[in-house]
Amino acid sequence: MVGALALSIVLAYNNVVTSSRPPIVAIDGPAGAGKSVIARRLASALGFTHVDTGALYRSVALAAEMRGVSWEDGPALGTLTRELVENSSLLLEPSNSGGSRVRLFGNDVTDAIREVSITRGSSRVSAHPEVRAALLDLQRDVGKAGGVVLEGRDIGTVVFPNAEVKFFLTASPEIRARRRYDEMAAKSGTAEISYDEVLADVRQRDVQDTERAIAPLRQAPGAIVIDSTAMTLDETVAAMVAKVAKRA
Ligand code: C5P
Repeated sequence: MVGALALSIVLAYNNVVTSSRPPIVAIDGPAGAGKSVIARRLASALGFTHVDTGALYRSVALAAEMRGVSWEDGPALGTLTRELVENSSLLLEPSNSGGSRVRLFGNDVTDAIREVSITRGSSRVSAHPEVRAALLDLQRDVGKAGGVVLEGRDIGTVVFPNAEVKFFLTASPEIRARRRYDEMAAKSGTAEISYDEVLADVRQRDVQDTERAIAPLRQAPGAIVIDSTAMTLDETVAAMVAKVAKRA
């Protein structure tokens, strides 16, 4: 039912889009709000490309670990990130499942960047202005032609403040931790860490992401707030497709 509704809205949407460039859809929100899965499903419903910008910060954390660069050393991280971008050592490639695979130094690191330690590191490296500056043009390049759903923390505030549609996707810390914990448990049979630890990590990342000096996590002006605490995935995606149809 929800799927059919979403599809009919997309068809209506496709009929009304007349501008030469398809829209840019920005999704920002805290860790564990379901941005990745929702952005992927929204992109697929709209026929757009999904860009997971968190994967870029995660890859910088992993590259730093591999190269022995401290997650606290902004200038060295900036040099490393520029190198990754300039040498095309960091690539986001579309995968068969509609998501994207991440390639770092020629290796597929899609799963490696989801590990708990790299997740913590990504929040640390992303606080450095040098890293953010080095990743900015890359993100603008992938998105500028439109027809994209970009998800992250600063897409609507910094990367594409003029995006046609901006969402701020959120949910309570407890439900975000619960979803992440269930996801980890489903993957490995047993969770790598306890629910309480996941909740503590979610809260810690919220503090780091919202209180950092540069590009803190904020609701962009004009952003549509979607609180998915009491919504299913299907309901959330359908609500967002409807909003895109209305705004674009
Ligand atoms: O979204 P995800 O959890 O994969 O992001 C990993 C980390 O990268 C976040 O904790 C956040 O600190 C950082 N990030 C960011 N800006 C973005 C995307 C992610 O600072 N646009």
